[in-house]
Amino acid sequence: MQELTHYIDGAHVKGTSGRFAEVFNPATGEVQAKVPLASKDEMDKAVAVAQKAQPAWAATNPQRRARVMMKFVELLNRDMDKLAEALSREHGKTLPDAAGDVQRGLEVVEFCIGAPHHLKGEFTDSAGPGIDMYSMKQALGVTAGITPFNFPAMIPMWMFAPAIVCGNAFILKPSERDPSVPLMLAELMEEAGLPKGVLQVVNGDKEAVDAILEHEVIQSVGFVGSTPIAQYIYAQGCANGKRVQCFGGAKNHMIIMPDADMDQAADALVGAGYGAAGERCMAISVAVPVGDETADRLIEKLVPRVEALKVGPYTSGNDVDYGPVVTAAAKANIERLVQTGIDQGAKLVVDGRDFSLQGYEDGFFVGAHLFDNVTKDMDIYKHEIFGPVLSTVRAQSYEEAIGLAMDHEYGNGTAIFTRDGDTARDFAARINIGMVGVNVPIPVPLAYHTFGGWKKSMFGDLNQHGPDSFKFYTRTKTVTSRWPSGIKEGGEFSIPVME
Ligand code: NAD
Repeated sequence: MQELTHYIDGAHVKGTSGRFAEVFNPATGEVQAKVPLASKDEMDKAVAVAQKAQPAWAATNPQRRARVMMKFVELLNRDMDKLAEALSREHGKTLPDAAGDVQRGLEVVEFCIGAPHHLKGEFTDSAGPGIDMYSMKQALGVTAGITPFNFPAMIPMWMFAPAIVCGNAFILKPSERDPSVPLMLAELMEEAGLPKGVLQVVNGDKEAVDAILEHEVIQSVGFVGSTPIAQYIYAQGCANGKRVQCFGGAKNHMIIMPDADMDQAADALVGAGYGAAGERCMAISVAVPVGDETADRLIEKLVPRVEALKVGPYTSGNDVDYGPVVTAAAKANIERLVQTGIDQGAKLVVDGRDFSLQGYEDGFFVGAHLFDNVTKDMDIYKHEIFGPVLSTVRAQSYEEAIGLAMDHEYGNGTAIFTRDGDTARDFAARINIGMVGVNVPIPVPLAYHTFGGWKKSMFGDLNQHGPDSFKFYTRTKTVTSRWPSGIKEGGEFSIPVME
């Protein structure tokens, strides 16, 4: 069986802890590789290498650092098919979706090519007699990121590209479920001209994460994953004096107004609810039609579309709509939650429970489920399911619909489908959720805006990518310098104010 490695100091390094995790092919259920789980000692060694490499990298001028990103973009495009295939094989998502995963990371790398502009400081000429004042944006030093299984290319790039272009070294601790693509990305960054030791991949689980949180050299921690772990990492990282941003789980509502184009809304819901088997933090998992008549029309449009979804392995190329979920445990959790929905009185209008794919009986496939008459107190409404399950909650008014989304503990994304500009504007202004779509079901901002949820979907104050990423990965130093013009004065004993 293939034994994966860490990537430290520009080389693939075997794990020495003796602990491994199994990496599955979710389509077949087979274990296809084992990934080493780093000990604290292995993490410490990687941090020491990063600490040594970082000062010279920070001293490399920003234009040259940006050129590494330019070359990296070229290499990502060159290897797109290879990366997508490796990604699908471990994650299970379809090949076009896997290429999209790489592409949405690549776009952040493109944004990072603008680093020389973003890193320009501020300057005040003659702030006082003979006095100039300037602010510099300096790298933090060694930074780290912990990423989830569901976007094994995009989210690592969202973190390491801005971190590195700002002059930091970066330790990536990817998900142990699909670690191959992060290792390939590290190789490509080096091929693009990044000095050894600036980007390192250390595979692992809680032990490696705790080693990051406790390491005094590591200045910042970025995390994307489930909310309980996000809260843990935020609390520990902050307590240890690090700069931390943690992005957590989601329960994204899509409100369908009576005036919405029902075909458009149903198409949007099917893509946003079931794409990537629902394993997206921006997936729509709750549909909220306003009024029973709207709900009936929506369900009528949705049922045939959901029943027609094609589920299969990524090797079927464009012929499948979504693939298996990531592990047998994820599948069991989805099935358990579906059962609670039935037990608690929701109406299962499309039942995917008996789904089975000939030749792939051991794969982690889950059929598409559609619930109607879901209510606020049900487990399928309260919890993130992270599977191909869409819940319909019928609201009697716009106020009730917006109230549902606002009262939910998560606040990652939301959408409204309507033809009325006034309703859309009111929704966008009042909703307490970080990313809002108007007739757009998955409003993931592009690279030059920022990505982040509110409430229990985000802990910290700076978002991912866009201008916030340059703030997160730099620290401001402000210099006040005076070159006296010959008049020597005595000491000043009151706080200086500029005249
Ligand atoms: P997860 O929380 O299980 O794992 C994320 C990372 O944390 C992994 O690297 C994992 O090794 C590590 N980890 C797991 N348990 C840990 C522990 N006890 N202590 C320390 N580290 C631990 O999440 P996942 O299943 O990989 O990803 C799915 C989750 O991520 C969903 O909840 C989804 O909504 C969320 N997500 C959020 C966003 C966002 O931007 N808000 C984006 C993608 C995914």
